[in-house]
Parts: sequence; C-alpha cells; structure tokens
Amino acid sequence: MVLINPPVTKPCEMPAGITRLAGALRQAGHTCRVIDMNLEVMLFALGSPVAKSDTWTARAERDLRLNLAALKNTKTYRSFDRYKRCVNDLNRLLSVGAQRDGVRVSLSDYEDTRRSPLRSDDLIAAAGRPEDNPFFGYFSARFREVFNEGPPRFAGFSLTYLSQALTAFAMIGFVRREFPGVRIILGGGLVTSWMSAPKWHNPFGGLVDHLVKGPGEDFLIGLSGGVSSDAPGRAFPACAYDVFPVSDYLAPGMIMPFSTSTGCYYGKCSFCPERAEGNVYSQLAPVKTTAQLSRLVAREGPALVHIVDNAVSPAMLGALAKEPPGAPWYGFARVTGELADQGFCNDLKCSGCVMLKLGVESGDQQVLDGMRKGIELAVVSKALKALAHAGIGTYVYLLFGTPWEDEDAARKTLDLVAGHHDLIGFLNLAVFNLPHNSPDAAGLEVRPFYGGDLSFYADFVHPRGWDRKKVRRFIDREFTRHQAVRAIIKRQPPYFTSNHAPFFTDTFC
Ligand code: SF4
Repeated sequence: MVLINPPVTKPCEMPAGITRLAGALRQAGHTCRVIDMNLEVMLFALGSPVAKSDTWTARAERDLRLNLAALKNTKTYRSFDRYKRCVNDLNRLLSVGAQRDGVRVSLSDYEDTRRSPLRSDDLIAAAGRPEDNPFFGYFSARFREVFNEGPPRFAGFSLTYLSQALTAFAMIGFVRREFPGVRIILGGGLVTSWMSAPKWHNPFGGLVDHLVKGPGEDFLIGLSGGVSSDAPGRAFPACAYDVFPVSDYLAPGMIMPFSTSTGCYYGKCSFCPERAEGNVYSQLAPVKTTAQLSRLVAREGPALVHIVDNAVSPAMLGALAKEPPGAPWYGFARVTGELADQGFCNDLKCSGCVMLKLGVESGDQQVLDGMRKGIELAVVSKALKALAHAGIGTYVYLLFGTPWEDEDAARKTLDLVAGHHDLIGFLNLAVFNLPHNSPDAAGLEVRPFYGGDLSFYADFVHPRGWDRKKVRRFIDREFTRHQAVRAIIKRQPPYFTSNHAPFFTDTFC
C-alpha cells in the first residue's frame, strides 16, 4: 500500500492523519510506503529554473538555498523581518514556478479559476486531464518511479484541506489511467465532511474504489488482510514518523503531530462542523497518554509537539502539566476556568506549553451564548492575563457575522481585543459560514447551495441585516485598522500562520 499526502498544504510538518495510518499498519504487521507529495512537489518547484524572471524572482532564485536553510534555523525566527523576507521569497518562487492558466499556487493554498474543489464535476474533470495540473511533471514521474518498482495493490490519498482536492484528483486520474490495477482509496477529514452531508451520494464511483469516512486505521488494516483491533482496545495510536523526510520540512526542527482525542469533548458550538457532522468523541486515558507522548518525544527528539486535537480537554491539560512531554508543545484549548487559574497556567508553562490556540469568537456575551460557545467573557479576560503572565503565547480565533451578531456586537469584539491587546499574541479572523446541516439553519431564511454540490455551507439572509459584505467592510475598514489590532495582525507569520507562530514565542526567541 502507498499512502499519499497531496498538495497543497503548508510544508512545515508531516500530515498527522498519515502518521497514524502508517503507524497502525506497521503495528498490525503490514508494510506501507508513504509519499509526502506536497513537500516533494514544492521542493521540486522551488528548485526548478523559472522561465521569465523579474528582480524579485531572480533574488528569490539566487537565495533559495539560504532561505530554505534559514527557515530550519531558530535564529531566523528572532527577526520577524528576516523570517518574513525568507518566506515571501520562497512563496514568490513557488507561485511563479507553478503558475499555469488560471492556477495560483502559494505555500498554503491552491486556486484554480476554472475548476472548483466544491464541485464534483470539476474534480472529475481534473482527474480526466491530469496534465493540466502544474505539478503533473513531477507527480507523474514519481508515481512511475515508485509503481514501476512493483505496483502496490492500493494507493491511499488523504484529503484534509480543500486546497488539496484538485491536485489529489489529478493524481487519482493519472494513477487510474497508467496503473489500472491499483485500487484507489480516498479518505481524510475533507472526505469525512463530504460523506456526513445528509444528501450525500458518491459521485466518484468510476474513479475511487473506496471512500473512507472517519478514522481509516481499521479499514486499511482490514483491506491489507489483517484483523483490526476494536477501536477501544487499541490504547494508543502507533504513530509512524520515520516514514517521512523529517529534515526536509520548513521548520527549525521536527514538528511532531500527536492527537489525544478524536471529535470534541465539548461538542456543542452551534457553528462547528464537528457537531454538525455528528463526529463521535473519543479520548485516550490522560495519564497513560502523557507517558506514551513522553516515550515518543524521547525517541523522535522533536523541536515542538503539535497536539492536533480539536480541543485538548482540561483533564488532558492537567495530565500534561503533571507529566511534561519533554519538548515544547502547543494545541487548541477551550477557555475554561482552569485557564483562568494562574497556578494551572504556570504548571502548563513548566510542562513546555508554549502557545494555546483559543476560540474566543466574540466579545459579546449574548453572541457567545447564542452560538452555545459555553465560555464567559470574564473568564476569557482572566485566562488571557494568566496565560500571558505564565509566558504562554495565545493565538486567538474570532468569528464575525454569526446570526446572533450585529454591528454593535462586533464592536464589542473590537473592544475586547483592544482592551487585551498586550495579552494576545496572534489573531485569526474569520467570517461565519452556515453549515448545511446546522440546526441553526432551521430559524433562518436559507438560500440553496452556493459554490457547488460538495459545499458544506448554505447562504442565508442575516436576521439582523449584518450580511457578509457589511461584515467584511467592518473587518477591513474598522477592526484591522485599529492601532492595537493592527500591531497584532502584523505579527502573523505569512502563509505558515499558527504552524510557525510557536517559534515566535519566548521559548524559542
Ligand atoms: S470547542 Fe471547537 S471543536 Fe469543540 S464544538 Fe466548539 S468549535 Fe467545535
């Protein structure tokens, strides 16, 4: 079996899902080969001569080796300007080198003006003409090289982001055409979301042999002819990290993905796809998990552990504080009372916690209550202070334009950020999308699909007239122009955002 990570995702760490799949297969006694095609095509595109060069591109070409080396060195992260120049130069080279009619590629995204990853017809068309893809030259040669050594029975493509979908289907089309005996498996978070839609029907029957919803470990083991252990019986994910070219990723050392749970222990936020898709929550036993994590850290020696849970539970945070993994770590957490406790935050810091990503969403309590966020603004304020005092960085996520928000409420969010600007490390701003299968859609005037048959979201008439256009104008003209907010936004690592943000915290700088 060959497992493939399709482009485009940020090339700074190995894909968490494939580390688990490869680990589970290995534990069950099956071999598999892993190709991080995302990383490979990017490094290839960066190293390829550019046909038409301008001054900026010529500089980027000249400094390529230096810039790649610089992003693997923590010293670079001590000067944000130096870091930004390296990243922007690399992105320039990639975007110019991979440019095709209508296609724009960056270090974090893939856009095609002619085809949409939200339309199954477009994905099937991408499979029908793989030569149109800017990465065709590399991936076709690479598949031929690997498959001609001995074609695998199965090729598994793992799709997490929309930015991977069009190239994944181009690769699937190529493998189908050149290696018709290889059976195609398609899984990952994006596929799980597609298959969770109430009206889902499989449009990819002629192309894909197996579509996998949810964690794929047991399915792959079963396909390989093994007996899968029951999920509860398999105590720990047997992650395989050594199947990836660890030193090639654009980060100052290995970023080790690790998950302690699937789904979300809270699972009530009304806007959340986890809830809308009805994903089941399952958590590993905290104390045993931290022991396992420590063993993995001792074996792999990562620069940073990325806990990829949707939200690390308070019990798991407590266990991490008691048994530090032995390397700096970060992840998503809900703003609960524990984080407002200075002693708890100090313990987290001592355990190696360098940054927490926090879904604060709004500065208006009624909006938070409307979206059933389950957090109190007074606790948010205390938590931001306690975390900052402990020396833990914060990446705060905000959501504008929810059905419960109006302009006044959005201004309260601005007040919240401005009032805590010295306690917030980084900000992520998003505009609300209404999931099709959200219970909130029932009380709203919802318009039919927009985007395509694979779109997760419906358009809706905002009950308070606070539509997307007004929301965007507010964000662009008022929110981000506020002096305090602007200073935070300027710190945002371009393209790599939260994946590189921990390297700008005190621990590394
Ligand atoms: S805490 Fe996060 S993952 Fe959990 S339900 Fe809310 S938004 Fe979803």
